[in-house]
Amino acid sequence: MVRSLLSRYGKRPTHRWGQNFLVHRPTLERIVQAAAPGGADLVIEIGPGLGTLTSALALQAGRVLAMELDRDLENLLAETLAGLDNVEVRYQDALAVDWRQLLAVEFAAGPWREVKVVANLPFYLTTPIITRLLEGELPLTRLVVMVQREVAERFLALPGSKAYGAITVLVRYFTETTPVTRVPPTAFYPPPNVESTVLAMEVRSRPPVDTPWREMSPVIRGAFGQRRKTLANALAAAMGRTRSEIEAALRLAGVDPRRRGETLSLGEFAAVTGALKTDCAGSPSHGPDGGPQ
Ligand code: SAM
Repeated sequence: MVRSLLSRYGKRPTHRWGQNFLVHRPTLERIVQAAAPGGADLVIEIGPGLGTLTSALALQAGRVLAMELDRDLENLLAETLAGLDNVEVRYQDALAVDWRQLLAVEFAAGPWREVKVVANLPFYLTTPIITRLLEGELPLTRLVVMVQREVAERFLALPGSKAYGAITVLVRYFTETTPVTRVPPTAFYPPPNVESTVLAMEVRSRPPVDTPWREMSPVIRGAFGQRRKTLANALAAAMGRTRSEIEAALRLAGVDPRRRGETLSLGEFAAVTGALKTDCAGSPSHGPDGGPQ
């Protein structure tokens, strides 16, 4: 069916945009179930493709706003989404969108109970778009995304494992993420070379640590920037501080300077960030008048 739909529009799947279309109905239903779109919810879908997931979401959501990069799908989507008057497709790059502005406009027209992002994401887009959506601290409540299995493993990794990285810490800071289902290549047309996983990412209303992300982020990037170095060396190089300054801050945070970045938990990154800030002031915390706080 997908094949004949594509051929009627003279369309071939574009590999570089990750066009592997979901054809396995039970998987599609699991995604919709995990997103649980309600009549008062706005769902933003990234990459509607042939509109299969889009129309299933539209049957339950208040509104579906879909962003599709490929203009060649315009006539095809007009056919598959015909009659669904709560769906709007915009032909644009999800990475180039000003999400804050978009959501402000949507809420002005709302009011939406929740805004959820649903996407069967192309590999190249996964990390940049998830990073942008989470770091943007946007009023989103849930992301339900299909990603390559290895990427899902990175999102869910534990400290000290090979898959644990800066993206793991980011995902943990902003969301509570759980796997929904594993998806084999046969669930897609054309089948990709890799397995996929659907993830439900519940956006936290408060992060699990008090440290602002903008303060933690350079420390995390520094720690993971050079994985073969000890934490003290990696942070000294990345943050332009002396090794002894960094070592003092790490000790203050209760973290052994010889450890490697990939062994630190989110809580330890928060403690190191706090200690580096304190240490930066020359001596323990100075108040606005220069005196100790
Ligand atoms: N949602 C459909 C499905 O599940 O069958 C299609 C998923 S397909 C894996 C990925 C879709 O994302 C394609 O339609 C592709 O054209 C679109 N896409 C790729 N890069 C994009 C971008 N930067 N912005 C918006 N859409 C993009």
